[in-house]
Amino acid sequence: MSETQRLFLALWPSEEQQQAWSELAGEWLPEGAGRLIKPANLHMTLLFLGDISVDQCASLKSKIDSYRGRAFELVMDRFGHWRRPQVAWLGASETPQELQDLVHALQLIARSCDIQVDTRPYRAHLTLARKVRKAPARIRFEPINWFVGDFVLVKSELTSEGALYEVVSKWSLNDSRGE
Ligand code: ATP
Ligand code: MG
Repeated sequence: MSETQRLFLALWPSEEQQQAWSELAGEWLPEGAGRLIKPANLHMTLLFLGDISVDQCASLKSKIDSYRGRAFELVMDRFGHWRRPQVAWLGASETPQELQDLVHALQLIARSCDIQVDTRPYRAHLTLARKVRKAPARIRFEPINWFVGDFVLVKSELTSEGALYEVVSKWSLNDSRGE
């Protein structure tokens, strides 16, 4: 069998954002309520690709190279919890059109490379903690504005100490501010 890599496309926050959001998660979640994601691992998945071959990866990258999405501002104003996957997350009550378009374009590109991807509606969320069994109390907070000017391809290695992520490619989005 040929070699494969576990990959996903994501929005990657800066180190400062990762640090700040991780601290918020620490404040919001009661002690022992779950397992906080390490700051350096915080991200927002756009599209999970799974195990794909070197050839599929090359063709995916080259197709993404010729795609130009639009930059956008994401307002994260929700701290939520999903009971079944047991995650607490930071999310947006409004998904910007640019983000919907980006995810849709990436889904089409992935399918054109014979990569099976999720067909469920996209729900933008940044997982803050896992194994959170009980819904945390409602939190009031100032919405977080995240200017998203690029997106990345990430390699995920599942180890006994959790997933190790490595950003392997990055693409810019068109920033039309000031035009
Ligand atoms: P672990 O699986 O060890 O808990 P992880 O979920 O962080 O770690 P991956 O399973 O490699 O690492 O997933 C990478 C990213 O893709 C994560 O944001 C994860 O939530 C998301 N993801 C994983 N599997 C799927 C899937 N089947 N559909 C949608 N998103 C997924
Ligand atoms: Mg996983």
